[in-house]
Formats: sequence, structure tokens, C-alpha cells
Amino acid sequence: MGKGMLKKSFGQHILVSRGVITKIVELLDIRKGEEVVEIGGGTGNLTKALLESNLKRLYVIELDREMVDTLKGIRDSRLKILHGDARKFNLCELGSELKLVGNLPYNVGSLILENIIHHHRCVPYAILMFQKEVAQRLEGKGDVSWLSVFLRTFYEVSYEMSVPSRFFRPPPRVQSAVISIRRKGTTVVKNLEDYKTFLTTLFANRRKKLGNKLPPEVLKAVGVEEGRRVESLSLEEFLKLYEMLKLMA
Ligand code: SAH
Repeated sequence: MGKGMLKKSFGQHILVSRGVITKIVELLDIRKGEEVVEIGGGTGNLTKALLESNLKRLYVIELDREMVDTLKGIRDSRLKILHGDARKFNLCELGSELKLVGNLPYNVGSLILENIIHHHRCVPYAILMFQKEVAQRLEGKGDVSWLSVFLRTFYEVSYEMSVPSRFFRPPPRVQSAVISIRRKGTTVVKNLEDYKTFLTTLFANRRKKLGNKLPPEVLKAVGVEEGRRVESLSLEEFLKLYEMLKLMA
């Protein structure tokens, strides 16, 4: 398949830097016998580099039928190409201890990440490429989003490296960055949908004070003043507020 046929709608920006690809594989730290899932295999640059490790199995989830056909040209008995949508793919169907990796399509990167978090019980570690601003927010810097809090509830997030546009074909208009996410030991959150609703409700109308969003007794019990706004809350405060709300409901 020619590079001229790359589709913007699928967010196809092919990583062409051998150095960055090598670094991503290194960060994934693949051990003998591990099962790896790549999201958005594209033309297979990263796929081929992953197969140079001693992984036991590599699943590639790719949405574009044409890319699926290209990827099927790679001959390796450990490789399994899956035509599917990573925004809703049931990852736990593939294994119970999966390492995930992907140069994600930027237009749907957040939705794919949300799906990964929903499957955190079978994904202990992942290396993911996002648009740089998104990566910074996910890490907890600057303008934090509900998804950043959602992610950091279940995973330790590290900003690994910035990746300039010139390392992609075609070069995207924005800069990129790689993050690693490592699952935390335990969490008080049991019902993810319920927790998501709690976070998105708090993040709606950001300017509003928390006193207008949560019962005064809940805020008081956690020691959060009513005049504060959502962006001032620490991860610990989000979790305490959530727990207290459940307790007092
Ligand atoms: N990993 C390749 C390609 C990255 S571009 C590389 O680094 O060179 C992003 C890839 O994700 C494209 O191949 C695109 O077709 C695929 N993609 C887009 N939306 C997807 C989705 N919802 N689920 C799975 N793959 C998707």
C-alpha cells in the first residue's frame, strides 16, 4: 500500500523514526513469554520491531480494512491481526496480563484510553503515544480533565518523551508524546461507570464552585471548602469525596 493512500479519517500518521520505534519497544520492556497488544498497527513499522523481541504472542487491533490486509502480509506465527475497533474491543478476551502499545490515532485517542481503563484488570502496563497536550494533561499537568483523574485513579502515569512531527508521515499538525501507564495495587473504586459519572459531573461547568455540586456535609467531612473549584482538587481529594458521597448517600 502506498503512503499516498493514508487516511486522515483514521488518524493515520505513520511513525517513521527507527530511533523512536526502538525506544518505544524498550519502554515496553517485553519479557520472555509475554502477551502484547498493539493498537492501530498501520503499515506495521512498530509491529515488526515488536516481533524482534521474545514475546509469546502479539495481537494487533486495526480498524482500517486495507491496513489489516497489509499487516496480514507479515509472516510470523506469534502474530494475530484483528480487524476491530479499539474504542470498544473487549481486551480481556485476549488475555489476563496484557502489555499494550500503540501510536494512537489522535482523533479517538481519548476514547481508546477510556476503553483501556475499563479493562485495567487485564492490562498492567502500557506505552501509548498521544498528542502532546493530551499527554501532559493525562500526566496531571496543566488543565486536568476528568479522563486524567480517571486514568490516575487506576494507573501511575509517566511522561516518557516528546516526539516532534517530523518523525511521522505525513507529519501531524501537532506535537506528540509517549506516556507509560503502570497499574496501581488497589483502588476504592468498584463501579467504573458510577465513578465516571461522578467525575464528569464535577468537571461539567468548571467555573462553578464545589459547594454547588456536592452536598455540604460531604465536603465538610473531607475537609474541602465549598468555595473551591474542581481544578484545585488533588487525586486523593477526588477519591475521598467519592467515597464519602457513597457513604452518606
Ligand atoms: N502504529 C502505526 C500507525 C499509527 S496511525 C505506526 O506507528 O506507524 C494510527 C493507526 O490506528 C492507523 O493505522 C489507523 O487506521 C488505526 N486506527 C484508527 N482508529 C482506530 C480504532 N478505533 N481502532 C483501532 N485502530 C484504529
